[in-house]
Amino acid sequence: MTNDELWKAVLGELELELSKPNFNTWFKNTFVVSFNEGEKEVVVGVPNAFTQTWLQNKYHKPIMEMLNRITDEKVKKVIYQVEMTRPASTAAVETGEEASRHGSLGATLPRPGQVGTGQGKPGQEEETRKEETLGEKVGLNPRYTFETFIVGGGNELAHAACQAVVSALGQKYNPLFIHGGVGLGKTHLLQAVGNEVFRDGGAKRVSYITAEDFVNAFVESVREGGGKNFKNHYRNLDLLLIDDVQFIGGKDKTKEEFFHTFNTLYQKNAQLVFTSDRPPKAISGLEDRIVSRLEMGMIADVTSPDLETRRAILDAKLIEKSLNLEDKVVEYLVSSFQRNVRELEGALNKIIGYSEFYNRACTLEEIKKIISSLASQSRRGAVTPRQLVKTVVDFYEIKMEDLMGGGRKKELAVPRQIAMYLLREELDCSYPTIGDELGGRDHTTAMHAYKKIVREVDQEGRIKQEIDLIKERLYEQG
Ligand code: ADP
Ligand code: MG
Repeated sequence: MTNDELWKAVLGELELELSKPNFNTWFKNTFVVSFNEGEKEVVVGVPNAFTQTWLQNKYHKPIMEMLNRITDEKVKKVIYQVEMTRPASTAAVETGEEASRHGSLGATLPRPGQVGTGQGKPGQEEETRKEETLGEKVGLNPRYTFETFIVGGGNELAHAACQAVVSALGQKYNPLFIHGGVGLGKTHLLQAVGNEVFRDGGAKRVSYITAEDFVNAFVESVREGGGKNFKNHYRNLDLLLIDDVQFIGGKDKTKEEFFHTFNTLYQKNAQLVFTSDRPPKAISGLEDRIVSRLEMGMIADVTSPDLETRRAILDAKLIEKSLNLEDKVVEYLVSSFQRNVRELEGALNKIIGYSEFYNRACTLEEIKKIISSLASQSRRGAVTPRQLVKTVVDFYEIKMEDLMGGGRKKELAVPRQIAMYLLREELDCSYPTIGDELGGRDHTTAMHAYKKIVREVDQEGRIKQEIDLIKERLYEQG
């Protein structure tokens, strides 16, 4: 029996035991590198460190069993080894969808070592975590700076206003109110203001908060001690950055607090910057006095970037990631995503993820497929919370009742947190709803889980890869 035949037989058995998506994800592009009968040792080639860890941790036992069943107990040891290329003699073990893959390469993979993810040792990302900056301590993403922001048609005014604000905190344009559609760089600009202020070493009393967290923090603080801490904190700042302020609308008590915070800070000449998905007047449930306060300073909108700007943004992201894409792929991307920078970026990340996972470049055909699956993500409404949770359960091969239950083992806790994160991120569920969906947990548990996973996703490590795979499955089901 050749190595190929051996592995085919093993896969044939495994395929019967695993769900199709799990089988495809973990066994696609695997093969037997060598079988040393004397040492009773099999080396299995896998496309990346991520798969290596999964096979080792989750599927080692069944793999071992199958190998022994097929070879008549000739295997004592299995080694999973990351192999960039399979030896010429071994035929690819193709899963169904892969059989149709042909054509020229659409993307060039980064040279080994250029991109840190995917090829490192498992667990490496935990070790390389850097120390938190001042900005990160208040919740600012260090990547959101003026340097990484491409100025062009659609955002020039907002960008200029933000820079002016930094150069003279509280003196010009106070408050600054930025509004516009999703994914157009509002949060990026808002956080760039904060990051730049920290870099200047001037004002230290800076807060960045989303309006929704502002509401939650306020409610919490009132419950715990009459809201005193909250007031002390938010009324003694040099710079307050509130993201997505449209969420304040309708929340009565918080609106009141917001109004007082605003007045106090304004009178102290502290700088206020807000973002919103709509102009102040269009925020429902906001009293006139608050609207007029918000309109008092400068209002700048962001609109969709023009073609040139989209190209420049994509170029900048490619440089940041040390990646090359063929011109035709770049053109395809910038013409496919005309409205929303976040989606353009999302598509790029997905292409990179795909290339890294399978350790080779994507074809233009594949890129088109990836993009069409992203487009179907706008059918968010089609996915229910239940389906989402089920997808997570299936991915990790755990039991639904265990996920809902109280077990605190890591094998359950992490999937549970990821389910919470995805309910929030993908379906916009509120924290109380998320708590209910996961077996009646408290909303603060959901909130902490969400924040924890957001941080993990930012580290671009294993968790992020797992989440990307789960999302892929979620929308494939459609
Ligand atoms: P919004 O808050 O308006 O919904 P974000 O600020 O979250 O949008 O932007 C979405 C993504 O697009 C972010 O990753 C951001 O860095 C990126 N982005 C948006 N506009 C630009 C730009 N002009 N230059 C570089 N990156 C941008
Ligand atoms: Mg935003």
